[in-house]
Amino acid sequence: MLHQLRTTKPQEFIDITDIVATDVRNSNIKDGIVVVYVPHTTAGVTINENADSDVVRDIINTLEKVYPVRGDYRHLEGNSHAHIKASLIGSSCTVIIKEGRLLLGTWQGIYFCEFDGPRQREFYVKIIKE
Ligand code: ZN
Repeated sequence: MLHQLRTTKPQEFIDITDIVATDVRNSNIKDGIVVVYVPHTTAGVTINENADSDVVRDIINTLEKVYPVRGDYRHLEGNSHAHIKASLIGSSCTVIIKEGRLLLGTWQGIYFCEFDGPRQREFYVKIIKE
């Protein structure tokens, strides 16, 4: 499934857990895996805490400290920091499906990670039956 997403900030994490969970439910697949894939070079996807929003804020701020928007970069487009952050975070994540549900920990959520927004973005959800 292809999903469209409109990010609204230069850097933000958007919780897409419900979108992925809905795709899993609609697939009627009880056991398998789901892959979430982001086809961009300045955005990514990760799994982390979705209970305390300060965690996401801390991740973004710490990445910004280590890989600031302005730095000693050569890439002419001026968004090297976003390319670096996207590579570190990664372009895909995999979650196990058990009894028709995402096998996420209590505090885990799936985040689309924007590093060079705001932009129109997309991600894929691929469900594979066991
Ligand atoms: Zn670039």
